[in-house]
Amino acid sequence: RAMTWDVIIIGAGAAGMMCAIEAGRRGRSVLVLDHAKAAGEKIRISGGGRCNFTNFDIQPDRFLSQNPRFALSALKRYTQWDFIAMVDAAGIPWHEKTLGQLFCDRSAKDVIAMLLGAMDDAGAQLRLNTSVEAVAQREGGFRIETSAGALDCAALVIATGGKSIPKMGATGFGYKIAEQFGLNLIETRPALVPLTFAEQELARTKDLAGASVTAKVACNGASFDEGLLFTHRGLSGPSVLQISSYWREGDLLEVDLAAVANVGETLKTARASAGRVSVKNALARVIPEKLAAQVVAEVGLEGNLADQNNAAIDRLADRVHRWQIKPVGSEGYRTAEVTLGGVDTDHLDARTMEAKAVPGLYFIGEVVDVTGWLGGYNFQWAWSSGWAAGQVC
Ligand code: FAD
Repeated sequence: RAMTWDVIIIGAGAAGMMCAIEAGRRGRSVLVLDHAKAAGEKIRISGGGRCNFTNFDIQPDRFLSQNPRFALSALKRYTQWDFIAMVDAAGIPWHEKTLGQLFCDRSAKDVIAMLLGAMDDAGAQLRLNTSVEAVAQREGGFRIETSAGALDCAALVIATGGKSIPKMGATGFGYKIAEQFGLNLIETRPALVPLTFAEQELARTKDLAGASVTAKVACNGASFDEGLLFTHRGLSGPSVLQISSYWREGDLLEVDLAAVANVGETLKTARASAGRVSVKNALARVIPEKLAAQVVAEVGLEGNLADQNNAAIDRLADRVHRWQIKPVGSEGYRTAEVTLGGVDTDHLDARTMEAKAVPGLYFIGEVVDVTGWLGGYNFQWAWSSGWAAGQVC
């Protein structure tokens, strides 16, 4: 006979563990299954090992979805302040790094230990190294065939995450379950991912690999004013990872390579006081030297600042402040932090995350078509959606 549980959660990641804690606290018998050998592997590697676990400034416009209003209910009922209170109660030291982003002082392992401890306190069980082979609906719930035998449950929660970092156990399993039960899927694509250039463009930029600037990167109505890094394949850095969620093949990026400066004014002022400096060296005071050399060569300026008329300086400033570039693609799921798209929110109840047409079946976390900005937003969605399902499943 199959062992019976009130709730089975597939996926011991951020969302699955939060859901297990909440359902367990309600007195439900809860089993969390994961095929990995440890729980919360993505938490462990997140935020450079320090886990950017939420953001002071959670705003609805920082989440992408076909239905941008869907995430509101869960985000309002379980907020960043609720998660911060949980972290504080566990005695985990943290700090704000930049732009409201909160990180552990010590290690992301503190967050994993907190969640595992709370699961234990709530009586939720965890079974690792267990893969799920099939799921079927049955009288009063679901039957799950696993590598360790059959299990029955009244409520089934899918918390298997997205497709990013396949090396760490991402499978796209959740999407298959959604399809099996007739839920619509919004097309998935890698997001928060470095963008790549075609050969021709790379020939111009590859010498710049390693150079970084504070840039404003804009595309399709979104813009981000953060770091930009030239790589051997194209562009990375926070502003580029952010814009990758908005960029589509064929789109141009508009890049201000010196977002905190005014190149035209700076060079005209310098021309009056230090006109015998080469244009390249003058520009190198504002942007990295290699980049300055390349931009000056592209615009075709030679000689000293004093040799340049206003029009020439304006052309140079324009090239720095309004660089237009068309990436060809992204580095893909291998390095993407998240997956855009996923289970269509139209098919889910925004309050509970339950499938509207399949009572007892829930989808939480990244597998759902809700994707946050870089900066702790994706974990907050995992906590909030996991919490919401945990109140009712
Ligand atoms: P996951 O955390 O991905 O958990 C899914 C779980 O399901 C995994 O344990 C997996 O092993 C298991 N699973 C999958 N398929 C199966 C199957 N078939 N059977 C059994 N188990 C299965 N977000 C932030 O907010 N802040 C950050 O600092 C941050 N840093 C990141 C750094 C990196 C390198 C990456 C890749 C992502 C980062 N993210 C960050 C994004 C964040 O990690 C995810 O959005 C979040 O982990 C999603 O939580 P989840 O519970 O939905 O899925």
